[in-house]
Amino acid sequence: MTRDPRYDILFEPVEIGPVTAPNRFFQVPHCNGGGYRDPSAAAEMRRVKAEGGWGVVFTEQVEMHHTSEITPFIELRLWDDRDIPMLARMADSIHEHDALAGIELAYSGVNGPNLYTREVPMGPTAGPILTFTSDPVQARAMDKGDIRDLRRWYRNSFRRSKQAAYDLICLYGAHGFGIIQHFLSRKTNHRTDEYGGSLENRCRLMRELIEDAKDEVGDACGISVRLSLDEMAGEHGFSNAELRDCIEMNADVPDLWDLAHGAWEDCSATSRFKDEGAQEGLVTGIKALTSKPVVGVGRFTSPDAMVRQVRSGILDFIGAARPSIADPFLPKKIDEGRVDDIRECIGCNICVTGDMTMSLSRCTQNPSFMEEWRKGWHPETVRSKGDSESVLVIGAGPAGLEATRALGLRGYKVALAEAGTELGGRVARECRLPGLSAWGRVRDYREGQIRKMPNVDIYFDSQLTADDVLAFGFENVAIATGATWRRDGVARFHQHGIEIDEVMPVFTPDDLMAGKLPTGKVVLYDDDHFYMGGVLAELLVQHGCAVSLVTPASEVSQWTNNTLEQAVIQAKLIDMGVDIHVTRAVSAVARDHVTLQCTYSGRESTLEADALVLVTSRTGNDLIWTEMKAREADWAEAGIKSVRIIGDAEAPAPIAWATYAGRRFAEELDAPQGDPDALPFKREIAELATVS
Ligand code: ADP
Ligand code: SF4
Repeated sequence: MTRDPRYDILFEPVEIGPVTAPNRFFQVPHCNGGGYRDPSAAAEMRRVKAEGGWGVVFTEQVEMHHTSEITPFIELRLWDDRDIPMLARMADSIHEHDALAGIELAYSGVNGPNLYTREVPMGPTAGPILTFTSDPVQARAMDKGDIRDLRRWYRNSFRRSKQAAYDLICLYGAHGFGIIQHFLSRKTNHRTDEYGGSLENRCRLMRELIEDAKDEVGDACGISVRLSLDEMAGEHGFSNAELRDCIEMNADVPDLWDLAHGAWEDCSATSRFKDEGAQEGLVTGIKALTSKPVVGVGRFTSPDAMVRQVRSGILDFIGAARPSIADPFLPKKIDEGRVDDIRECIGCNICVTGDMTMSLSRCTQNPSFMEEWRKGWHPETVRSKGDSESVLVIGAGPAGLEATRALGLRGYKVALAEAGTELGGRVARECRLPGLSAWGRVRDYREGQIRKMPNVDIYFDSQLTADDVLAFGFENVAIATGATWRRDGVARFHQHGIEIDEVMPVFTPDDLMAGKLPTGKVVLYDDDHFYMGGVLAELLVQHGCAVSLVTPASEVSQWTNNTLEQAVIQAKLIDMGVDIHVTRAVSAVARDHVTLQCTYSGRESTLEADALVLVTSRTGNDLIWTEMKAREADWAEAGIKSVRIIGDAEAPAPIAWATYAGRRFAEELDAPQGDPDALPFKREIAELATVS
């Protein structure tokens, strides 16, 4: 297939100072939870992006000096020459496919608590370190000598970046994370010298650093600066108007303007709260202020939206972090006229949780993300078929669909049996809830792929039993039958069921998603702590219920701190009039009220209720699995070689865990039997220093 000429403009080369990007697809810096701990995994992930057609591929944030670091978060480091090989590996990987390699240099200033290096943090003005974790540490104010030091440290990092073969150097001053922003903003810069006060003075450090970079490496590297379109920090914040003045004042100082937005939670909002291209109003008109190219982001997955941004003179480059994670081959698919094959980001921010939990990032849509090196998984290809021929996949939720897709791609004859009448399992149900419509893309992408495969058959209305499975005689069986929300209150606070009066109507998320809704005064008890409790509170308010949300946590939807949504969720529920009770567990349920227990003091209170909604935990639907195991002696006669339970049926977890489980099942089917006790992935361990 060939490219639709409407999209030709996206494939035009664009100059960035001394270098030229081959097209307009620009993977902006993004974390991955691996960083300096997993450098080869991170390098291979970037290589795959370049292979998929991204013309520019950036590193994540790189801490450019040891006096500013953000432990416990794991990014990259360029503290001395010993870090160059790690960074060079990433640049070399990106260059394998002729993309430009970019490095984002960060000095975290008032965002770096220096928990590891124990250096005293510095910022434009003395004050508390501003981190997610409110570390009890303050920064001291930089004097002129410190600024001279900082400029020298930056020069060292520019030289090292060039040595590591980077084509682009980005000075990080966005999201509240980089010192350039701390100088630009009146919120964090209270100086009265030539680095504070007027906008011109607040821009001075940025300008000097860019000029230093050009002087040091400008012959070889394009120099960009990454700023927030609006700091979103009230009357003292660096506003969109000030940003425009700053760009006008320094129009042609950098080789490219990279425009992020607000704090990270503003920039990487979930699809529940912001649509594609949400920053358009803030970015429109900026290009006219400079002759240099402009890149902006907006969770762009639609080539038409991208083309419109470029044609209407809003952006030169389509910046993307999450869409490039969900589909590293997005540019190639547009280029090859395969737009329907794009695996669109669903805007769930599970990828962000990898960084926030200092683990390794996952992606709901792309289970190969950060497994490219560890497990050798690729977003587009899988190993060819092994020895067996046929697989029965039971259940068409995210686990079953991903297993079917990957097995189909491997060349197996696959039968997908689904009890219901539609594909998608939990995503088909959840995407009908308020704000979650984009989650349907988990199903849509996989359905689109497997419908094209002649070796995959789908059977609806097929509620299978172990007898059916034994009668069919497929060689391999994947049981992906999902999970059911509990009705007894068991979760984290209560490990045993709550006493519930049988007169009280009790609902679970499954009931609500099936359209069975309570009326009147509803107590929603959330001991799940992810999105479901907050989303259902919204649904119930829309339905006219008076909702009290009770949670043992100290804030609603607590785990959504990791998806950067917690504050917006709580604000929204307050706005909607939800009566919020934190640090309270439901300890007993009577016919017309519930008893709440303070999680600290144990003190009890009561809440009147016409109905109770329990968002607690789920039980895997493992009936077929248990029966099949009990009848293992019959497998051989039935022609069955292997049976596995995967996804929520095995152990309920977020959707990303299920797509991963589906992919893993497909990857490992018919794999050569190695040492069963061996570590199932590659890893890097620190080189031991010589003991002195
Ligand atoms: P996961 O997230 O692990 O993929 P889901 O709950 O999303 O789990 O999907 C499980 C799917 O399995 C649902 O669509 C459900 O209808 C289907 N299912 C459950 N039990 C059976 C069964 N016995 N036979 C066929 N399909 C089943
Ligand atoms: Fe998009 Fe979710 Fe994947 Fe992140 S985890 S890239 S938000 S689909």
